[in-house]
Amino acid sequence: MKTGKLSPKSTANRLSRILEAYSADNINKRFPVDVKDLALQCGKQFDLGSEITEIQAADIKNFVGCLFSNDSKDKWKLLYNNTLSSGRIRFTQAHELGHYLLHRTQKDSFQCNENDMLNWSDAEKDIEAQADQFASYLLMPLDDYRKQVTSRINMDLFSHCADRYGVSMIASILKWLDYTDIKAVLIISNDGFMNWAWSSKAAFKAGAFFKTRSNIIPIPEKSLAANTLIFDERNGANIAANIWFEHAERDMDIQEMKIYSNQHDMIITLLVLPKPLEAWPPRNFD
Ligand SMILES: [Zn+2]
Repeated sequence: MKTGKLSPKSTANRLSRILEAYSADNINKRFPVDVKDLALQCGKQFDLGSEITEIQAADIKNFVGCLFSNDSKDKWKLLYNNTLSSGRIRFTQAHELGHYLLHRTQKDSFQCNENDMLNWSDAEKDIEAQADQFASYLLMPLDDYRKQVTSRINMDLFSHCADRYGVSMIASILKWLDYTDIKAVLIISNDGFMNWAWSSKAAFKAGAFFKTRSNIIPIPEKSLAANTLIFDERNGANIAANIWFEHAERDMDIQEMKIYSNQHDMIITLLVLPKPLEAWPPRNFD
């Protein structure tokens, strides 16, 4: 398998087809993907001229994962932070495997932080986004993921997907946001402020997004996210759209879902918007 010119998606899809063939005999379980095993095997299996020979845990503060080669670039080592949850470790290992398969000729070391694992856009130019896209498609192949989404969207569905694929709840929701044509926004917050937010394409086009990289954005007071008496709202409650989006029509409701993660001291919020909702400010024709 020559991986140099393939896109992140097609590289992951090729590996998925091989894993499917291996699991057809039911000896190997198809999900969650055994990324470690795959990473150690694929250099040899696909005759790539180099190999990942070591995968090691490292407990270093603020470190997520890295991949680096020896001087002759025929041996690579993958390090990951073993204090993270098992889902985040699996995603990190898949992200680093993505760098190996897609970018090993461009650089001899890759050091990846928290933000690099949450950047699923602009996959054409940004190698971090490409590694994320590879990891997403390797761990959660789209055809299998779509088969899981048979019922109404709620947090139980995303918990099911997180369990099936061995990924974090956030990665499981991001996968859905990546392909759905529903207007929806994921927000991660703590202490009353957004840490990070991500919109589906349809929501983004409707102006329903938050620029958390360049702004400090408080959580709206009347939202469920701000309500300290409610820890979980897994099915979603109807709330007025203009609580979150000030320019939305007054009589419109959106669905707000919420989970509080004790372990990470953060709130995961998912907003599902009705189709006609527009969040852009009114145009000024003066
Ligand atoms: Zn990276």
